[in-house]
Amino acid sequence: MAQAANGNWDLAADVIVIGSGAAGLPAAIKAIEGGASVLVVEANYDVGGHAILSGGHMALGGGTSAQKKYNIADSPDTLFSDLTDWSVVQPNGSPDFRYNDRAVMRAFADHCATTFEFLLANGVEFTDKAPDNHGASTTGNSAPRENHAFWTKSAGLESPNAAAGTGVIRPLEASARKKGVKFLLNYKMTSIIREPSPGKSGGHVIGINAQYSPRIMPGSTTPLKSFRSDGNIDSTQPTMKLRAHKAVIVATGGSTSHIEFRRMFDPRLTPVIQVGGEPYSYQDASGELAAMAIGASLWGLANQTLENGATMRAQRALATKFNYTTWKLESPIFPLVRAAGFNVKDWQDLILVNQVGTRFYDETKGDVPHGNLGGQVTPYTPNDYRNAENVKYNPTRYNFTHAALAMNEYSEPPSYCAGPQWAIFDADAVGREGWKVVPPYVDPDGYFFSGNTLAELATAIKNEYQAKPMKGEVLQATVERYNSFVDAGVDEDFGKPAPKFKIQTPPFYAAWGTLIVHDTRAGLRINARCRVIDMNGQVIPGLYCAGESAGGFNQHGMGRCATQGYICGVDAAKLARHE
Ligand SMILES: Cc1cc2nc3c(=O)[nH]c(=O)nc-3n(C[C@H](O)[C@H](O)[C@H](O)COP(=O)(O)OP(=O)(O)OC[C@H]3O[C@@H](n4cnc5c(N)ncnc54)[C@H](O)[C@@H]3O)c2cc1C
Repeated sequence: MAQAANGNWDLAADVIVIGSGAAGLPAAIKAIEGGASVLVVEANYDVGGHAILSGGHMALGGGTSAQKKYNIADSPDTLFSDLTDWSVVQPNGSPDFRYNDRAVMRAFADHCATTFEFLLANGVEFTDKAPDNHGASTTGNSAPRENHAFWTKSAGLESPNAAAGTGVIRPLEASARKKGVKFLLNYKMTSIIREPSPGKSGGHVIGINAQYSPRIMPGSTTPLKSFRSDGNIDSTQPTMKLRAHKAVIVATGGSTSHIEFRRMFDPRLTPVIQVGGEPYSYQDASGELAAMAIGASLWGLANQTLENGATMRAQRALATKFNYTTWKLESPIFPLVRAAGFNVKDWQDLILVNQVGTRFYDETKGDVPHGNLGGQVTPYTPNDYRNAENVKYNPTRYNFTHAALAMNEYSEPPSYCAGPQWAIFDADAVGREGWKVVPPYVDPDGYFFSGNTLAELATAIKNEYQAKPMKGEVLQATVERYNSFVDAGVDEDFGKPAPKFKIQTPPFYAAWGTLIVHDTRAGLRINARCRVIDMNGQVIPGLYCAGESAGGFNQHGMGRCATQGYICGVDAAKLARHE
């Protein structure tokens, strides 16, 4: 159990886990099962991270009980072979397994099925059907490996946005609390404390510093409260110094919320691009930066830049700044989100324009397709260079993102940012789609506008990322040209198949439809036991990392995070106490 510590320390535990998402909770449970006392330190007001907002699709294979039940042949060796197969490429040619760290993949393959059974044993339920490819990305060609958790409020699974990922997080949280894991919520780790050492590689990691970070919503004076309080350490002390006798596990979720950090991999990712999962929790690179400050190395950096499906998402909800998903009005963070947003049933109902007011693509092309899933390359021979001949190439789908990020007349130095993308539509489209174009479904404070004429609409667009006012005549010309394509049945500019609907009935609308960034695919260098490695290739004693903050593994989502959390927890508990 975490306890008051001596000397300068405010609290102590054998293992401190930073972050309570898909990686942090399994790490905490395995560490406490291994006999360690465990303290989870979480910046947010509640447990869950991005994982609790997730769709609950979880890629875990290698011979799980679900795969066996449905006669799907798989094994750790097959999984390892799949995820290190250099010859398999995405439909855009991106070789997403090629740069995986083989030791990290071997460890994943060996613990993947075990982690699936661990999740079941700790209360996570998956729908009882054969694992498939739905919601997956880069899970390997030899077998379907995606499992689906679900959300039911009636089961007491309180959710910040009614997402299926709640069905992963709440049972794990309940299990962790029952086993005695302590939670210090509302505290953000600000640095990792490492013993000074005269040796080249420095000393043992002995704790962390954390700062009180309550979440207070606009219009309120009281901090948000967590769903459960049993096991929580109550504190409002401005800073805490926390002692870890065995290990510190970084499970902070990645780096996409840190603009300068993410721009190291892709300079185009300026502040205009929002992040899936914000503003519930942030992947702000704090774990990476704190570990780097005590010598840690980054790893597998190509994986962040490779054009993977799901790293950036092109077409999401409209009319809200935080547009990866639509938001429930009853979400505790709704005052921050400000607008629910709405989904698009038919992308024929609108055009997308850049900040200048001109189109740049076929709006119906949709999101980047997930690639490299069970059965996608057929026939498939592991590590045979001819596999690439059997991929159904479809690079234009991937190029949507690049067209959206392209420079335009308003792109200015120093970043030459592309600015926002706006969905432009008319009153008829609103009727066809059944959209509610009033607050709180739309955010008129910079993310949704209307006008009785297109010129009026263009003038109305005022947004923090819009470099200059859109010109009425430009938007007017764009729409007129598009309407002529509807008449002709041919989109001469971008090949949208048989443009269906003219934009002609006032009022006219502009809704935020800017692409978002989603996954972190590169992070701290770890070894097969998830121990963090420094710039000399040496283990930093007592420091672990799991999940999106860990490098060397190019795959979307929670499967890899939970499995690495499992590995960390088991290993950290075995360490000798460092007094
Ligand atoms: C809307 C949405 C849908 C998704 N759907 C799916 C899906 O269906 N299937 C799938 O596999 N993946 C999905 N994902 C991705 C998946 O949620 C993430 O890959 C996964 O949650 C990452 O796990 P993690 O533990 O690394 O980070 P997280 O789950 O984000 O947890 C990190 C935690 O660390 C905390 N933290 C960060 N910095 C600090 C600090 N300095 N101090 C203390 N705490 C800190 C954060 O607040 C957060 O709670 C989805 C993501 C989103 C946003």
